[in-house]
Amino acid sequence: MQYTEIMVRYGELSTKGKNRQNFIDRLATNVSQTLNAFPEVKIKAHRDRMHIHLNGADSAEIIKRLKVVFGIQNFSPSIKVERDVKQVRQVALELMQKLYHEGMTFKINTRRSDHNFDYDTNQMNDYLGGYLLEKIPGLKVQMKNPDVTLRCEIRLNGIYLSYETIDGAGGLPVGTAGKAVLMLSGGIDSPVAGYLALKRGVDIEMVHFFSPPYTSQKALDKAKELTVKLTPFGGNIQFIEVPFTKIQEEVKKAVPSGYLMTIQRRFMFRLAEAIARKRNDLAIFNGEALGQVASQTLESMAAINDVTNMPILRPVVSMDKNEIIDIAQKIDTFDLSIMPFEDCCTVFAPPAPKTKPRIEKCREYEQRLDVEGLVNEALANIKVTEIKPGESYLNKQADTFAELL
Ligand code: ATP
Ligand code: MG
Repeated sequence: MQYTEIMVRYGELSTKGKNRQNFIDRLATNVSQTLNAFPEVKIKAHRDRMHIHLNGADSAEIIKRLKVVFGIQNFSPSIKVERDVKQVRQVALELMQKLYHEGMTFKINTRRSDHNFDYDTNQMNDYLGGYLLEKIPGLKVQMKNPDVTLRCEIRLNGIYLSYETIDGAGGLPVGTAGKAVLMLSGGIDSPVAGYLALKRGVDIEMVHFFSPPYTSQKALDKAKELTVKLTPFGGNIQFIEVPFTKIQEEVKKAVPSGYLMTIQRRFMFRLAEAIARKRNDLAIFNGEALGQVASQTLESMAAINDVTNMPILRPVVSMDKNEIIDIAQKIDTFDLSIMPFEDCCTVFAPPAPKTKPRIEKCREYEQRLDVEGLVNEALANIKVTEIKPGESYLNKQADTFAELL
């Protein structure tokens, strides 16, 4: 017996008046992007539910993908039957016979959106329940916590049977909480920060700094591949690559080694802010965690933040490395993150970066540089790519939909 439809129940925002339509539209777009490999699938987003018509598509694959889309509370794969009670009871019987084990308890739960149907909900419950009890000896009715709840939904275009309710990823549909940039390196922390931003509905655009020839094409591809890994949660993501070589070389020439890291990162923030403002993004997310490395002390964060007024959001700020790694493994970014490609930060890392840089010193050293010119030159050479679920940048099939979560 093949599933014909998946019925999706919305998550937390669906109850909030004004946002509701926006919530539903975004979720429909995100679901359709994450199911881009199945053009036969049709999505109908209604006020209270979303119906995904499979039209023969592989339901197991689609279920796997739906499980990680933010904004879905849960969903039920279902079978469409003609509006003929005899046919319905026959399909119900086949379903229950498959599921049956000794002493199994069940109940029927009918809902009607078509109130003119011959049977009301109680009559339908009795009709189907009675038939199943008669045909499957040993089956028992139980209203509270039965082993199986067989749902029967009477709609104008057919009757839908389902028995499974599968948990969704929760969170908010990506895009309903505004748009922001994420500073994405090739490391472990920033993809996790990105995942946490997506979870709360933020539409992120990746900003990645790279420094050819010091960093290779492989390092750039790795950052793109990490982006692919985040697409299942909310659909397509813009990847913005920013050439950083000249800035790093100039900074290295002009700035004492202890301040190299801090000044480079001040440039990163300036660029991230400029890109965000141009693209109407409201904030900058990054993967900084307190105390992890020299650039992540409070003093250092203050010195770096000095160049921008934009909110800098750090979803992993107070997590231990192990906690971050747990999430990275769950979302399947960890193995990619630990691939040993050089990052622009490590290439130009000073041997002993200051852990307590002073803001006045940063400003003083930057007077030796044409800050605005360097920023504008980098901005003039950014490149934007739209990254979609299922793409691959490291010449290996992106197994984006491995059992996540
Ligand atoms: P990650 O594991 O995310 O690389 P990290 O612990 O290595 O983080 P840093 O190298 O100090 O820490 O970087 C801190 C944050 O700065 C990163 O989480 C990321 O958000 C941002 N960042 C670092 N390098 C880059 C880069 N090349 N492109 C974009 N953002 C970067
Ligand atoms: Mg790093």
